[in-house]
Amino acid sequence: MSPTDTRHSTPDTRFAPSERARGIAASATMALDARTKALKAAGQPIISFGVGEPDFPTPEPIKSAAARAMAENLTHYTTVGGEPALRQAIAEHTVELCGVPFTAAQVIASTGAKEALYLALQVLCDSGDEVVLPAPYWVTYAEQARLAGATVIAPDTEPPTWKVTPDSLRQALTPRTRVLLLCSPNNPTGSVYSDSELAALASVIADRDIAVVIDEIYARISYVPVGRWLRAAPHLADRSLIVSGVSKAYAMTGWRLGWLVGPQPLIEAATALQSHLSSHPSSITQRAALYALTGDPAIERTVDDMVRTFRQRRDAIVAGLSSIEGLSCAEPEGAFYVFPDVRALLGRALGPNGRVVNTSAELCAYLLDEALVTVVPGEAFGAPGFVRLSYALGMDQLHEGVSRIQTALRTA
Ligand code: PMP
Repeated sequence: MSPTDTRHSTPDTRFAPSERARGIAASATMALDARTKALKAAGQPIISFGVGEPDFPTPEPIKSAAARAMAENLTHYTTVGGEPALRQAIAEHTVELCGVPFTAAQVIASTGAKEALYLALQVLCDSGDEVVLPAPYWVTYAEQARLAGATVIAPDTEPPTWKVTPDSLRQALTPRTRVLLLCSPNNPTGSVYSDSELAALASVIADRDIAVVIDEIYARISYVPVGRWLRAAPHLADRSLIVSGVSKAYAMTGWRLGWLVGPQPLIEAATALQSHLSSHPSSITQRAALYALTGDPAIERTVDDMVRTFRQRRDAIVAGLSSIEGLSCAEPEGAFYVFPDVRALLGRALGPNGRVVNTSAELCAYLLDEALVTVVPGEAFGAPGFVRLSYALGMDQLHEGVSRIQTALRTA
């Protein structure tokens, strides 16, 4: 065979992905986002309620800090786990929020909160361990837990609050439970735990050998006082890992910076792992994030404005969706998602063509075809029968999108 002869160079089976890789489903939200972007690029007037990122630009002073970093040639490798100054700023930021003392040695900066979560689950879980993950949950948690060899136990929560109760948590625990994974404010439901609710959950696991991973990435975007795990359960600091980052609060999703804060031995293990993965987040991004955390009043005012705008949109989308027959929408208290119940619409003839859809996934496909509107199916969050809409889009688009949904979902 000549070097250019490719007849035998596509060995479908010999080079099939590993069993581990085959066990992981691609992110449904990312896939939907890719399809939305492709349709938009093809000129379709798509309105997307799919994306999980603020539509605001990153505040100017943060961008300027990145430009300065480039001008100063801070364009080389940094310390694995992030520059000491950034880790110090994250430690101080965390102390301010939860009151538990942390040092820079208890912090690792990662390429987004997504990598921080990956590291957390890798350093905590062994094969056969169980991760308790209340449903509905952000899809990445379940896949990352599986990647770490763990089994997901997903106690259901109920609308409108969507919060795991101490009783249902207790029932989900077994001798194999290794981690409780919580997210507040929650993606996809927008529910927010208070300090007292977190303290009640903490008391369920206090006497057991269970670690906690708490994802607080949306904590800055809350319309009620947001609980903080370690403020509520400071006695569990030696087995808790806090995940957060700048993506949502500072509209910095593309910069890729998140972090993990927790007990030093776990952070050291995570840092060793990261030294063989990404090493560290981009050096430019680290400087931008450091500036974001300086407490510059101009940035904080901009963030407060974003949160106010999100709240107005929340009110508008809840009112709009609630007026659609067959759709019921609880009012979320944080993040930028609503998670309406669409079960009453399943199995019914919908819209001008009387199409029948039987699952929330089919409903989302129908809305994309019929209304050119992107909405994410609850199946992606372990909650079929519901759909997630992100209201990180302008008010005009929001109203237009809701009106298209209303037309498409009109029942005969
Ligand atoms: N946690 C939750 C709950 C999220 O929704 C997201 C982003 N969709 C992340 C973490 C990851 O954020 P990052 O951009 O920092 O990786």
